[in-house]
Amino acid sequence: MSLAIKNITFGYSPKQTVLEDISFEVEDNEFISLAGPNGTGKTTLLKCINRILKPQTGRIIFNGKDITGWEQQDIAKIIAYVPQYSQALRSMTVINAVMMGRMPHVQGSYSVKDREFVYSVLQKMDIEKFAFRDIRQLSGGERQKIAIARALAQQPKVIILDEPTGNLDLKNQLHILELIACLCKTEKLAVIMSLHDLNLAAMFSDKILMLKDTKIFAFGSPDCVITRENIVSIYGVTTCVTMEDGYKHVRLLK
Ligand code: ADP
Repeated sequence: MSLAIKNITFGYSPKQTVLEDISFEVEDNEFISLAGPNGTGKTTLLKCINRILKPQTGRIIFNGKDITGWEQQDIAKIIAYVPQYSQALRSMTVINAVMMGRMPHVQGSYSVKDREFVYSVLQKMDIEKFAFRDIRQLSGGERQKIAIARALAQQPKVIILDEPTGNLDLKNQLHILELIACLCKTEKLAVIMSLHDLNLAAMFSDKILMLKDTKIFAFGSPDCVITRENIVSIYGVTTCVTMEDGYKHVRLLK
């Protein structure tokens, strides 16, 4: 499986270009993190890939097939999107929230197979004990797992996550990223996520894509991309970058 993002250019208005000529590819079992300062266009890029936003130019190619013009319902069978953490949720049971992920596959009402599949996702994520709880009663980490379960219920080939560790404590940050990395390998998923924490990005990503001034500034393995020079160019801060326990480690300097 491969998803190629080709020459994406996007602006919210003709005067403001947010993304310019962005191209890269992701394959199954591959975990790509997007990095860059606030406002560089990470969320915008994720939404362009998922076609929530329609780029002015560029194409999305899935397994050699141009899916740029496809209906959202058909895109959703290939790409699932987990948006940034939201406080404002309406009252709903966990099972119904996850069941909504089946919508792209359903004509009319949910079948027994849909229900069985959703229950198997809850089991895989170890959240079946929450099945009949209201999602508003769950903690941030639990809610994030529900959002990921809903995405898995879509049976996607590519999962896109916008800051999945935002609002989570250290233990849950680690837990959620371990879970996503594990799903990436066991479910043969391609993962594209925005992630602010460069240390976590270095630990979990196969590749990191750094955005700066509407363009790709660097793209490659964490070892190549996470350097003192790149970080000062992108964020304008001085850091000490070392290799510890086999991963690049970034320490901010005052
Ligand atoms: P990031 O995810 O890297 O923080 P965003 O993709 O959210 O960046 O935003 C990129 C730029 O686009 C920012 O300048 C932001 O103000 C602008 N922007 C984001 N959403 C909208 C919108 N709905 N309308 C107009 N401008 C937007």
